[in-house]
Amino acid sequence: MNDKIQVAESIARIKAELDGRARLLAATKTVPPEMINFALEQGIDLIGENRVNELLKKYDSINRDKAEIHFIGALQTNKVKYIIDKVDMIHSVDRVSLADEIERQAAKHGIIMPVLAEVNIGNEITKSGVSPAEIYEFCRYLNSLPHLKLRGLMAIPPKCEEKGGNNEYFCKMRKIFVDISYQNVDNSNMDVLSLGMSDDYLDAVECGSTMVRVGSSIFGKRIYNNN
Ligand SMILES: *Cc1c(COP(=O)(O)O)cnc(C)c1O
Repeated sequence: MNDKIQVAESIARIKAELDGRARLLAATKTVPPEMINFALEQGIDLIGENRVNELLKKYDSINRDKAEIHFIGALQTNKVKYIIDKVDMIHSVDRVSLADEIERQAAKHGIIMPVLAEVNIGNEITKSGVSPAEIYEFCRYLNSLPHLKLRGLMAIPPKCEEKGGNNEYFCKMRKIFVDISYQNVDNSNMDVLSLGMSDDYLDAVECGSTMVRVGSSIFGKRIYNNN
């Protein structure tokens, strides 16, 4: 893990690189609340958490006046109820049953939950997300749910070693995003394309990403402990 000086420098550097072209989401899995709050003092205003249990554990210690919180990880349907009133957006809506449960819980709380549809842009068997062939119909379905607001798309492209190797996938995502934005004249204003992580956020921005999710380039290598 990085120390505070490194975290402050990384945030400043990444913000300068982005130069207002995309919003910076700090991916804070495994990062303790004290460091999250420090990042919030350094100009971060959006954090993303991956696991429901970890989010719940850290939630009361996070300085939420300063932070928007997005849920960016795989989400079990039976855990939606724990986060529905705690997050400002869910990036990882990847199946009808999950959308239906978010609809049900949002209705119960009298809110409209902003969501992104997750695309399995590499058509990988092991990855979650809706296939590019089915994403159009899936987005139409999301738009039909009154307590969801489809704000855009998110993807995690296949792991790739060489630089620029994901540009092909980022470009495909951009095309799908534009196509769906044009189709959804009535209920949506699709303004979020959530693409790019520590190794490739600048490539993603070049390809049209509007929100990059950056973890280790800010906070350093993650240390996992299982509690
Ligand atoms: C952890 C995570 C990130 C950030 O990954 P880094 O490579 O550390 O920047 C982005 N998106 C999701 C969904 C993640 O789980």
